[in-house]
Amino acid sequence: MSREIKRIGVLTSGGDAPGMNACVRAVVRTATNHGIECVGIRRGWSGLINSDFVPLNGNSVAHIINKGGTILYTARCAEFMNPEGRAKAINTCKLLGLDSIVAIGGDGTFRGALALSRQIAESGQKLSVVGVPATIDNDIGCSNYTIGFDSACNTAIEAIDKLRDTMQSHERCSVVEVMGRHAGFLALYVGISVGATAVLIPERELDFQNDVVEKIRRARLAGTTHFMIVVAEGVGKAYDIAKRIEEEVGIDPRVTVLGHIQRGGAPTARDRETASRMGYRAVQVLLEDTGNRVIGTRGGDILDIEMEEALNMVKPLQMYRYEVLENLTQGARFRT
Ligand code: ATP
Repeated sequence: MSREIKRIGVLTSGGDAPGMNACVRAVVRTATNHGIECVGIRRGWSGLINSDFVPLNGNSVAHIINKGGTILYTARCAEFMNPEGRAKAINTCKLLGLDSIVAIGGDGTFRGALALSRQIAESGQKLSVVGVPATIDNDIGCSNYTIGFDSACNTAIEAIDKLRDTMQSHERCSVVEVMGRHAGFLALYVGISVGATAVLIPERELDFQNDVVEKIRRARLAGTTHFMIVVAEGVGKAYDIAKRIEEEVGIDPRVTVLGHIQRGGAPTARDRETASRMGYRAVQVLLEDTGNRVIGTRGGDILDIEMEEALNMVKPLQMYRYEVLENLTQGARFRT
């Protein structure tokens, strides 16, 4: 199957992620090469409601592949959650003559895209939507990888390496809070990569004695004099963890909340390259006319999945990574 597409609306929505710009560029350049016009919808779904847009061409996306954030801005939009809000968005689609949308963001963004497409279908019109996963949490079920994850990991690692220098010098314990309200991918990858003493993730019920206290003790008995505890924000506040460590281990940890710094910065090679391939694929999928789809990766390849099916998929954290971390921590096992 294939169809003629006239005009694609492209938007970024939800939390920003490094590599979103590379994806916008790929969508616009691929579309332009096929003679398709592109309109950038600003500030996510609220841009569609408020007719907040910018025409895009090959030149307007020059020199953005290396930039963090998103030139289209991003937002969360409560109004789009209800049919009245989406009715306004539909008017903008009609006004601009959009027949397709590429929505770059997380699963909330894709749910919005699906709701919009269905509501337009009720009036007998067709709007094809393609979702491209971009979130530093890497928590999209249908895709092994999401744009921004690698950059966020590297940003966190760089910051923690610096912390380690000073913690080592003062023989201290550091408690670092990283992003991840519901998913521990970021915390675990970062924890393995910095050689953390312990990593606390939302997927594992916290057993403070075994997961923190004993690990610090064993590391100390094995000769370590500084400790790095990485906490995903979904587990609890780093300050509370630090207080419990102080009470139960008798050391005075220093707390660092990395916060939004993890979202910024230039995208890594992996994010630029993946975003480029995903954006390219998004336009191909629209041309193939196979319905509403989400782009994903599996085994390094780019694929696309029917949107509703994609939204029902879950991606469990591979717990063997946790095992790896535990086995590599200094003093992980008592040696006899
Ligand atoms: P992140 O992973 O960074 O949080 P996300 O895309 O999941 O990204 P959300 O805030 O969940 O971020 O969703 C982005 C926007 O998508 C919402 O602000 C809302 O406008 C729209 N949206 C989310 N869920 C729905 C839904 N069920 N129906 C309609 N619109 C939705």
